[in-house]
Parts: sequence; C-alpha cells; structure tokens
Amino acid sequence: MPVIKDDLVSSALAVMSLCVAVAVTFAPSTARAGESTSDALLEAAGITAPEGCLAFSSPAAMEARADEWRVAIDSLAASDPDLVLGWITGTREPPTLARDESRAQLECMIAAVAAAAAAEGSTLRLDYGDGEAENRSTMRSWSSRIERSTRWRERVTDHFTRSHYRSAAGQAGIWHRKFTFTKKRSFNRISGYAAETCGLTEGHTWRPDSDRHRRCWFKLLTPERRQIEILGASSAPGLSRHHWGTDYDVFGLNPRAFLDGKGLSDEYAWMRDHASEHGFFQTYFGPTPEQEHTYMEERWHWSYYPVSHALLGWAKVHQTDLEAALFQMWDKYEGRWNSSGQERPFFSHLRTHWRGYVLTIGEPDGALEHSHD
Ligand SMILES: [Zn+2]
Repeated sequence: MPVIKDDLVSSALAVMSLCVAVAVTFAPSTARAGESTSDALLEAAGITAPEGCLAFSSPAAMEARADEWRVAIDSLAASDPDLVLGWITGTREPPTLARDESRAQLECMIAAVAAAAAAEGSTLRLDYGDGEAENRSTMRSWSSRIERSTRWRERVTDHFTRSHYRSAAGQAGIWHRKFTFTKKRSFNRISGYAAETCGLTEGHTWRPDSDRHRRCWFKLLTPERRQIEILGASSAPGLSRHHWGTDYDVFGLNPRAFLDGKGLSDEYAWMRDHASEHGFFQTYFGPTPEQEHTYMEERWHWSYYPVSHALLGWAKVHQTDLEAALFQMWDKYEGRWNSSGQERPFFSHLRTHWRGYVLTIGEPDGALEHSHD
C-alpha cells in the first residue's frame, strides 16, 4: 500500500479533524422504512438511524440511547413477540435499524483506533493477531483515507473484524460438526477436566482425526461434557450474541495474543479505555464461583450496548417464552440429526444451563467506566 505523506501534526489535530470528517462525510444508515416488519415497527416506536457517529460522553448517555431501544423493543414485542424471540434466538434476521446502528458505531470505533495508532507519539501498534504490527505510516495512510472515504472506513473495519452476525442455522452447523467430531478440522481447546479424564494435554486443540481424541470424546466424555468442551470457545444455536447483529469479534481470536505484552495487548488496552465512548463493552469475562457454566473470557468480543442491553433486558423478563423457543429449536435439530436411529442428546447440558450462556453475561461491571470521567 502506498504511503501517504500526510500533514497531521499532532494527535489532537488528527482526532479533531477525524471527528469533523465523520460528522460531514458519514453516510446515513441504509435502513429504510418498511424494509422489514420489525424495522417499520421500530421506526413507529421512535427509532431513527443516527446521522454520523454517536459519541457517548458518559454511561448515562449510552443508557439514554438504550432506553430508546428498550421502548422500541417492548413495542415490537407487543405487536408480535415472535419478532423479538426470533431476533434473540437467531431464527430471524436482526432488524436493519439495529444492525446498521451497531455496524456504524463499530466503524466509528475502528476509525478512532486507527487515528490513535496514527497519532504522533502514540505507542499503539495495531496488528492483526499474527504478531506482525502494522507500521505507523500504514496507519497514517489508513487514518487519512478513512477521513475522506466511507469506503475506506468500511475496508479498515472489515480488516479488523473477525466475525459479526451469524444465524442460528449457521451456529447449528458449527455445533453439529464439533459435537459429532466430524471432519479433520481441529477446534477449541482441551479443558483441564478432559485432559485429566483422558490423559490428554490441557490447552491443546481437539483433533477429530486422532484416535486418542476420538476415544476420549466418544467413550470417556458424557454428552454433557462434550457440550461443555464446545462451549469453552463457541456458542450454541439460539444462544449466541452474534445472532443479534450487535456483537463483533475484533482484532484476533487467540486468547494468548491479548495477554499483557503480547501482540494484541495494546489494542485491548485501547478498547478497555475507549470502546464505551462508541457504545461498546466487553461481554465475556469467564466463569466465576457463582457462574460456573458460561463462556471463557473473550477479550475480542465486543457488543454495542444500547441495542444489545435493551434486548438482553427483554430476554431476562421473558425467560419462559425464550426457553420455549430455544427448546423448540433444539428439539427440531435433535430430531433431524438423530434421524439415523441413534439417540444423541445434543443440547442436554444447555436445557439445564442455558441461562448462564445468554442471560448472566453482558453486565457492565467496570467495563462501562469512561477513562476520562
Ligand atoms: Zn464472539
């Protein structure tokens, strides 16, 4: 990529000019009234696509936008609860208004991190999780192009985004492949429990082409334990926040790369300090003594709070309906996957413990504290 010799003289100027450019050039959301039933209902309930980046100067500002979404989601559910249940469980596409606002804010955040990395004197070195840091002149080039072009903002955002929306059907395919231990592709990490039970090495990846791994998986682990192994690093159909259109995995997916002193620690530090200014917060912090059955800490998974927290709030109030929708989905998949006669309980662990994988996460904790407050 050609280096652009720009004339950004200080980080303050760089950030200021970026903000101005954002306000002037940012394309309005592509959501259109009537694009879907849900969009029309949300719009009728007062949701409009923001023009430009929303800058949240405090948690209260973010809460105010979340309140608008809470009102609109309640209104959507009053019209047809299945619109909201389908959105949460991934059987229905997220409303365009929700998806576009989350994506626009992600682009605003990536533009800000690129500007920070380009700034004179910054120690932030962005890399893509391969340990190969982008050099400062590349970041200057990107940052100045982002100011001028929404296309560049999209490209740079795509470059740093590892995963975004995934439907329940997509998640079901992943779940089935892992649970049945098919294909040669290795996955996840062997837990301490499985390592001890089977004499394998904790932290190594599961390899379906290994006889020792196959014996462990099928003979020594119960179906529930297999589900727990999968849930260490991925979700189940119906329970993934990636169904919501509000959540993204950014920079990398290797937990070790985010540790202090490793390739993505600078990015993580920046996100901890600044993500909330753009509405984002880290959702997964790993199991606790009170919550054993949940995901591992994921320093790459960030959620757009105003929409996702409103949706989560609705889910908490409507747990009975949500459980019925989840069980119906899992019954359907188990019926389909067991058609050859075997009885495999693909979701038995989750029928008891599903709440820990969707309801008890996403609490703000300190993640919403603004560094400059
Ligand atoms: Zn994720």
